[in-house]
Amino acid sequence: MNTPKILVSACLLGCPVRYDGQSKPVIHPLLQRWQANGWIIPFCPEQAGGLPTPRPPAEIQADGRVMTAEGRDVTAPFVKGAEQALAVCQQQKIKYALLKESSPSCGSTNIYDGHFRGKKIAGEGVTTHLLKTHHVQVFSETQIDEMFNSL
Ligand code: SF4
Repeated sequence: MNTPKILVSACLLGCPVRYDGQSKPVIHPLLQRWQANGWIIPFCPEQAGGLPTPRPPAEIQADGRVMTAEGRDVTAPFVKGAEQALAVCQQQKIKYALLKESSPSCGSTNIYDGHFRGKKIAGEGVTTHLLKTHHVQVFSETQIDEMFNSL
């Protein structure tokens, strides 16, 4: 096996970067091994895009914009964060990403429906979409074993 580098949502690694100032650490032996191997590049697109922590929750709307519940359009920092994630992948030749499911930046199979009512729909986050269109394979925290088989 080569020595792949993997871009990982910083919140999955225990960094308190989520909108609520918390993290969502994932304990998985493969992730721990990859960290020990030095393969992991932590990244938070929303922080990289210039948003503060904590910050108001935001959801992707039907028209593609990202809005907070109060009606503030935060599409620009979400796009900026996605572009920075892509730049890191391109600079470091990263072909794999392990990103937090359901996030408006990092979700890969589902996101919240845009109405701030806790309902999820099929879809992907802004960063996931940009990475996928540039041939970075994106997996969620529920797909670590599957990801291992494609490295
Ligand atoms: S943008 Fe991604 S890495 Fe940052 S807190 Fe949200 S899910 Fe985690």
